[in-house]
Amino acid sequence: MPPGGLPLACARRFLPGLLTFALLTWIPTVTCSALAAPGAASQHPPAAPTGPNGLPQNSASAPASDPHLLLASADHPAPVDPAHSQKTARPRPLIEQVRFNQRPISFEQGVTAGPGDGDLEIQFAPPETSAPDHLRYRLLGLNSAWTEAGKEREAIYYKLPPGDYLFEYEATESGSVRGLGMASLQVAVIPPYWQTGWFRGMCGALLVILGFTLYQLRVRYLVAHAHKLQEQVNQGQAELQLAVKVANDAHRVAKEQARKDSLTDLWNRKTIFEMLEKEISRAQRDHMPIAVVMIDLDHFKLVNDTYGHLTGDAVLQEAAKRLADLMRPYDFVGRYGGEEFLIVLPGCSRTNGVHRAEDFRRAIADTPVATACGPLSLTCSLGVASHDEAMPAEELINLADEALYRAKRLGRNCVSAGAWKDAEDVPSMADQGHGVN
Ligand code: GH3
Ligand code: MG
Ligand code: MG
Repeated sequence: MPPGGLPLACARRFLPGLLTFALLTWIPTVTCSALAAPGAASQHPPAAPTGPNGLPQNSASAPASDPHLLLASADHPAPVDPAHSQKTARPRPLIEQVRFNQRPISFEQGVTAGPGDGDLEIQFAPPETSAPDHLRYRLLGLNSAWTEAGKEREAIYYKLPPGDYLFEYEATESGSVRGLGMASLQVAVIPPYWQTGWFRGMCGALLVILGFTLYQLRVRYLVAHAHKLQEQVNQGQAELQLAVKVANDAHRVAKEQARKDSLTDLWNRKTIFEMLEKEISRAQRDHMPIAVVMIDLDHFKLVNDTYGHLTGDAVLQEAAKRLADLMRPYDFVGRYGGEEFLIVLPGCSRTNGVHRAEDFRRAIADTPVATACGPLSLTCSLGVASHDEAMPAEELINLADEALYRAKRLGRNCVSAGAWKDAEDVPSMADQGHGVN
């Protein structure tokens, strides 16, 4: 029983009796008959206070020196025999032993058992001086219903879980209207540490910290993963852009290659013709002159026949390079046929065209071509035509072609311009020495 529990219980039980006694002592108008049957109104007698073992003690209200206790009104004093009073102070039931998990434990100040659940055994005894025929007990906190003890003198609670309980043991006497009293015992089964509030709170806090830490780690991982993915996306985009650029470049190169002659890397026949048409349109729009030069290598068949086609190819490539080197940014040179070249000279009059053609002739003829078979002297014949009002590209080319054949007829290694009648021929300086040396 907890400190103060027993006095409180005694006070509750016996306070009405004490008050009654005070009234009888100090208020004369109250008669003794009113005190004749103190247990009649209640089954719990207004007995004297009991000791911790449940046994009743003598009333402290009766002075020890006075053997008689007056329980009467002032008008009708009545002697009370203390021996009789002793008889009316009923003995109370006892709690004799308490064991928890079969080990006896102290119970004078209440029972504190545990930690953790266990088997609680409470041995009790009826009042020694009486023969109760009705004994019952209960454990409040576990079950508020009374259990009839019968002849048993022990209450056993197996696996009693942690908690606070109040064991009550009550005895009544056969034929008596008064109870023999009640013994009570406070029982506290303390929980194991993992069932305590502080431990659960600590676990909860740890779980919260763990959860928060895991959350933070997860967030960090996701952020890092997102950055990594972003880098991969960026890298993929860069690679894709590079691939697109490479593809575009390749496409542009392929497209350009399709417009070029594979052997000489000059514009091919179709492209140089388209360029000529475009430049003629521009010249017409801007009222600017334009000239074309048709070039044919002299006696080139002899080169092939003498040194082979591979040497002939090398000679063709060198001739093309020398012509390309003389182009202005807005001039165009293309391979028109086998060993024939067409040059478009925007802004050039016929006279300027003839001078440019003479430059081309010299570029071919002045320096022998270095081949695997040794240096080869090479000459060419050139025909120049200039653009007239509304002259289509084909006609301009035909005029240049005619001039070229005239140069051939003139003996090769020379420049011829215009039609036969108004021909402007540049005499070849090496007319006699043309051909293959
Ligand atoms: P001419 O002075 O009258 O022009 O004489 P030519 O021998 O140059 O004239 P012709 O047209 O009879 O011969 C041209 C030769 O050019 C014929 C051909 O074998 C050669 N030829 C044409 N294309 C190529 C080529 O791509 N590579 C080589 N090696 N030879 C070519
Ligand atoms: Mg030729
Ligand atoms: Mg030819």
